[in-house]
Amino acid sequence: MTTTPSGPSSQRASSAPSSAGPPHSLHPERYDFFRVIQGYLDEASRLVTVPEHVRSILLQPKNELIVHFPVRMDSGHYRVFKGYRIQHSNILGPFKGGMRYHQDASLDDFKALAAMMTWKCSLMNLPFGGAKGGIKFDPRGVTRDELGRITRRFFHALGSNIGPDYDVPAPDVGTNAQTMAWALDTYVNTVGMVKKEAAMGVVTGKPVSSGGTFGRETATGQGVVHTICEWARRTRFKLEGKKLIVQGFGNVGSNTAAILAALGVSLVAVGDHTGYLYNPEGFNVHRLKQYVAQNGSIAGYANGQRITREEFFGVQADLFVPAALENQIGAAEAEALQVRLVAEGANGPCSPEGETVLARRGIELLPDVLANAGGVTVSYYEWVQNRRSEQWGVEEVEERLEKAMLDAYERMAQFAKTHNCSNRIACYGVALQRLVQVYLDREIFP
Ligand code: NAD
Repeated sequence: MTTTPSGPSSQRASSAPSSAGPPHSLHPERYDFFRVIQGYLDEASRLVTVPEHVRSILLQPKNELIVHFPVRMDSGHYRVFKGYRIQHSNILGPFKGGMRYHQDASLDDFKALAAMMTWKCSLMNLPFGGAKGGIKFDPRGVTRDELGRITRRFFHALGSNIGPDYDVPAPDVGTNAQTMAWALDTYVNTVGMVKKEAAMGVVTGKPVSSGGTFGRETATGQGVVHTICEWARRTRFKLEGKKLIVQGFGNVGSNTAAILAALGVSLVAVGDHTGYLYNPEGFNVHRLKQYVAQNGSIAGYANGQRITREEFFGVQADLFVPAALENQIGAAEAEALQVRLVAEGANGPCSPEGETVLARRGIELLPDVLANAGGVTVSYYEWVQNRRSEQWGVEEVEERLEKAMLDAYERMAQFAKTHNCSNRIACYGVALQRLVQVYLDREIFP
């Protein structure tokens, strides 16, 4: 049952925190996500020597694929779905990026998210390019059987536009390991590869029993936590005993909160698509995770008082991890926030206006391109294991991930210091340097 984040005041608990933001409700404004990402590239291009043709190539995706496909619903009726796969760049290696199932999905958002994957993989020194895709529909509104058929028809429609050496999808919003198991099964049964083993790497984020890797489920959250810990070490900020607020309690938000809880950081406010909850004593994150696994959302969870979206953004805490969707922190939300650090678990949660306000208020920011890169990094480990028919232990995955995150953090910090720029532009700058060098080495065919 969905309720709006800004529920009627009669539902609010009397001791809920008062909003430090403006009196009117905070609602994300529509903005052009793809243009924003292009703007970051332009900003970074002023700090790195970029040949004009390379800049022009990187400003647009290489391929934009849209498919329409029919699916038989449980009622016996047929419904036609719109699916996307945007392939931004493969100069560094196969296209790589998640598949999102969401009712508001749009071509421009997928273009932005695909480009962001190029920057992320380049920053992380991975041999992958960038892609993103998915289907425009609400996965909560269909049955499990329907979800399986929708996924299979979508991956069938994509056909050889994906592949272990060409384009490797992974989970994102509204998809998970089960989605990837259906995708793998569809691919191996329809592409007609002689060696089915060789097809295992067509998607990552699979269940461990179906060729997935240990550590992928928690990888993005773990990566967010590595960056927060590194920030804390560098700024001499003691994490133990501190407070956290998290927007989005899915894969990224819940795992980030759980790993931080083990470090003594307590989750005091949380929100998802059904609304927001506050608990000054701190939520039991594992119980909340179990509740969400059983009920599909935080709605109705007893150990927290319902607050509005406005109140959520004004909660007194130390850390904020946005882990829902893009465009959640505009200028008004950034004015309301009462934290020291924003670590972007989601892709694109902060608008440029929001970021300007955060900077003015001295609230530090760990940008998405670094902070949530743990997911694609461990996806790469899964892909390598699939190619070698190996299964690494969880310790090996976790050790490699930590080193990869800290190395990338250092590259960002060095660039930011040398060029006196924001962390976000530093990430784009580092990524751009690597991409430019490859274009200079290889030149343009023919
Ligand atoms: P998910 O589907 O598991 O969870 C999404 C969460 O966001 C849910 O709790 C949902 O209720 C909540 N949400 C949706 N709309 C909301 C709204 N309007 N207000 C508040 N909450 C809302 O998705 P996920 O995989 O955790 O992805 C979350 C974000 O992290 C996305 O931006 C995604 O691109 C990014 N990301 C995910 C991964 C990954 O490995 N899954 C990796 C990198 C980045």
